[in-house]
Amino acid sequence: MDINEFVKQVKNKEIDIVEHTKQVLAKCKKINDEYHYFNEISSELALSQAQNLKKNPVGRLAGVAVSVKDCLCVKGVQSRGGSAVLNGYKPVFNATAVQKLIDEGAIIIGKTAQDEFGFGSFSTNVGNGLDIPLNPFDKTRACGGSSGGSGGITQVADFAHVSLGESTGGSIVAPASFCGVVGFCPTYGRVSRYGLMDYANSLDKIGAMTKKISDTALVQELISGYDNKESTTLNSPVDKYSDWLSQDVKGQRIGIIKECFGEGVDEQVSKHVWNGIKKLEDAGVKYDEVSLPLVKKYGVETYYLIAMSETSTNLAKYCGMRYGAHDKLKEGFNDYFSKVRSKNFGKEAKRRIIIGTFARMAGFRDAYYMKAMAVRTKIINEYKSHFKKYKALVSPTMPILPPTFKEIEKLTPLQNYMMDIMTVGSNLAGMPHVNINVGKSNGLPVGMLMTADHLKERRLFQLGGVFEK
Ligand code: GLN
Repeated sequence: MDINEFVKQVKNKEIDIVEHTKQVLAKCKKINDEYHYFNEISSELALSQAQNLKKNPVGRLAGVAVSVKDCLCVKGVQSRGGSAVLNGYKPVFNATAVQKLIDEGAIIIGKTAQDEFGFGSFSTNVGNGLDIPLNPFDKTRACGGSSGGSGGITQVADFAHVSLGESTGGSIVAPASFCGVVGFCPTYGRVSRYGLMDYANSLDKIGAMTKKISDTALVQELISGYDNKESTTLNSPVDKYSDWLSQDVKGQRIGIIKECFGEGVDEQVSKHVWNGIKKLEDAGVKYDEVSLPLVKKYGVETYYLIAMSETSTNLAKYCGMRYGAHDKLKEGFNDYFSKVRSKNFGKEAKRRIIIGTFARMAGFRDAYYMKAMAVRTKIINEYKSHFKKYKALVSPTMPILPPTFKEIEKLTPLQNYMMDIMTVGSNLAGMPHVNINVGKSNGLPVGMLMTADHLKERRLFQLGGVFEK
């Protein structure tokens, strides 16, 4: 159901929000048994929010069910970032983005499945003891990652629902593409990261995943803005994104990233993305081919050096003392930390701790981390040079259709990392980007990626609006 229409009915008390929420929770439990989209369903919280709302139905999201990626803190609800190392951790506060939605009457229904701390592109690197979410169109295939649970539940929910995802290097748009929904990643600093379990601080962003771009526009409007609890948030006004959905696009110029088509990209993916571009063209948009050679040549390497370096320090706090998993302290502290970490971190988390720590070591830091940061600046400039002429740059979101779990098993770590070739560029540059579904091939969704300049989110809503008309 259309969210605005639903909210209106809740406010007019045409919908009994408590009964509705009970039904939503029952549906989620059923969906979860089949598809594993939730690490936690927060029934108690949802029902108490519904009861409060019944008395006083206010807010722009009154009664809307919101699922939240597991790495965002929800007060009193087990929040693990998809990791066993945080088993039992219940935050004592809400992440700012979560709080802002609650303040608008949202009902938090649960924490969605993800790759452990965001380490992956398929949501197959889940923490020890957690389930892998299954693609809504074919259960033998992946949802994409790392916000896979958010993508899946957004596709299958037949009730008013939106999800909050998180992206470091593509984790919102990748699952949005594989699950056939809208996924939006804002400019770095546009949405407060307060209450987000850091993956890599200089890259992490929070954004909406929804069925329709108009719902995304609403959620982004609500969660964006300065936060005095988070020093990297930007203190500039937030555009009224919803107003941009219906703005004429005639005469606007976009750039098609030529390196993102051809070798290594599934033909069906290219074909459908070109259909999407044609749709924009029919609405009056002009396009040229553009080139981003630095992103193609150095994007994945630069991204993984920065992401792993930063995450290896961020994960140091999970040592069995302060948060989550604990054990009996029988030995010295170092042995105790090793015991807890060895037992509770998954394989990919350990790989990233080792590589990231190596890249930051005295003697290597300048050669790897600092060099990657310098290349990143060049990549930002490469994007910026195109935004003098173009409103947005377009490419496929993922180079392939959603793969089967069997196919994923055969990939080496490096082949896994290469899946992010389309998405790491805009993430390294901290630029806003959106996934729009542009059709299906053999029943599997194909996503198109549009990237805009810093703080030009409105351009993405303007162009994205074409697909909702
Ligand atoms: N696939 C990328 C990685 O594994 C991106 C993950 C993310 O954006 N959280 O790092």
